Amino acid sequence: MKAIDDEAFEKLRLSGRILRETREELKSFVRENMPIIEVCEKAEELIRRKGGKPAFPCNVSIDEIAAHYTSPPNDVKRIPEKSLVKVDIGAHVDGYVTDTAITICFNPEYREMVNVAEHALKKAVDSMRPEAPTSRLGALIEQIIKSRGFKPISNLTGHSVGRYLVHAGTSLPNVAHLSLTKVKIGEAYAVEPFVTVQDAVGKVENSPEATIFRFVKQKPLKNVYARKLLKHIEENFKTLPFAERWLQGVIPKGHYKEAFKELLASKTIMSYPVFIEASRKPVAQAEHTVLIVEDGCLVLT
Ligand code: MN
Ligand code: MN
Repeated sequence: MKAIDDEAFEKLRLSGRILRETREELKSFVRENMPIIEVCEKAEELIRRKGGKPAFPCNVSIDEIAAHYTSPPNDVKRIPEKSLVKVDIGAHVDGYVTDTAITICFNPEYREMVNVAEHALKKAVDSMRPEAPTSRLGALIEQIIKSRGFKPISNLTGHSVGRYLVHAGTSLPNVAHLSLTKVKIGEAYAVEPFVTVQDAVGKVENSPEATIFRFVKQKPLKNVYARKLLKHIEENFKTLPFAERWLQGVIPKGHYKEAFKELLASKTIMSYPVFIEASRKPVAQAEHTVLIVEDGCLVLT
């Protein structure tokens, strides 16, 4: 029995190939002192040029920032020297989402932590097969990371991906946990261990900043420009996350701030806070999206 039809399979595979090529090109593109916005725009442009669309804004999360930072419009921040740079990208083809991440290391001190994240990812991917319990996967990732002298981030997880959905409902924790959830054939999952140093808290907390947003629900809107902005969001991103960079030029500049504020205040859209390690220790991440097939999994990215 086939759990995914041929057309969906081909779109998912193409989405993954676009993302893999983009990730590999970014490895040699990212440099110390480079404006972060250049990395974001380069990643998103590569995805589009190869025939996909970004499934979410390119995340460039540095050192103790674990996830969810993308450049706001006119961002002046740069890649710091000797930093640990997590580049997390997503693509979709007709809504079929794949998600991958690498950590680019400009500090030899953290090289081993990056290797451990990659090693844990490889071992986790090797264990992904139909009916694999997510609790066993989490225990495996935790054990690998701890045995190498590091600590997993306990409140960041992998996740199933779905059509126009980056998080499709199933979480894949990176630590041992109680759950009866099992991995399902025909489903696609993003596996993503996050690793920090042993003396860190090993959790992330919300920072006050948010740079990524998502449509939630239609609400009555007073401002005509808010309605116009929302129309653009629904038509172009549907339920997928977006950046304010992607809204530039949609409505006149003088009306943008108020319109965007109304979308947030009315809860028409939600924001994703930037995640920061609770003890401000550096974090490394590695991620692939896999499709569960009869005898194991297919790495899409
Ligand atoms: Mn990701
Ligand atoms: Mn992910």
